[in-house]
Amino acid sequence: MTKRGMLIVLSGPSGVGKGTVRKAIFDQPGNDFQYSISMTTRKPRPGEVDGKDYFFVSKEEFEQKIQAGEMLEYAKYVDNYYGTPLKWINDTLDSGKDVFLEIEVNGAMQVRSKSPNGVFIFLTPPDLMELKQRLIHRGTDSMEVINKRIQKAFGEIEMMQNYDYAVVNDEVPNAVEKVKEIIRSERLRVRRVMPDYLEMLGESMK
Ligand code: 5GP
Repeated sequence: MTKRGMLIVLSGPSGVGKGTVRKAIFDQPGNDFQYSISMTTRKPRPGEVDGKDYFFVSKEEFEQKIQAGEMLEYAKYVDNYYGTPLKWINDTLDSGKDVFLEIEVNGAMQVRSKSPNGVFIFLTPPDLMELKQRLIHRGTDSMEVINKRIQKAFGEIEMMQNYDYAVVNDEVPNAVEKVKEIIRSERLRVRRVMPDYLEMLGESMK
């Protein structure tokens, strides 16, 4: 029997650089885990590609998928929906591959309650003033959206307590290495390795 893959969740407050760290991880060759492409109702930013960065859909389409139970998790974030399509996740985990999600904190908590065996990593800012500056200087959003994101980000810091690991995003390459180390170590946990041995023991008793 194929061992089910591991779910890896990278989350953290708005503006901490989750997207940048995730992109840097997947820009590296040879990753042995798959990125789950999210679905969103927000409009594509310049350069973003449908089916690569996100699946861009209408509000109606997204709400219909929620109703049909097709999302592992979803959240309304600054007036748009963001969520993780369930089927691809299940198929990929069933095939034994590990899956990597980069999502905001409310969605991460939904995943935690459904898949407590996952690995939950919280990306933290080195300090809060820097986080504010990052949100302001990102330059892609209006001042109104930026202010909403700042409010949200400060509230989200407290949610760190619900995670397994905290990784400071001081420099992107450092954070990338730490996330990859966590993934490597998690695979070696006895509770993840033990089922293989129990199966082998079962086989050898036959
Ligand atoms: P952005 O609009 O900057 O691409 O993303 C806004 C926020 O939505 C980020 O914090 C990002 O991590 C989060 N996000 C992206 N995809 C998902 C998803 O599938 N589910 C949830 N809950 N959040 C997501």
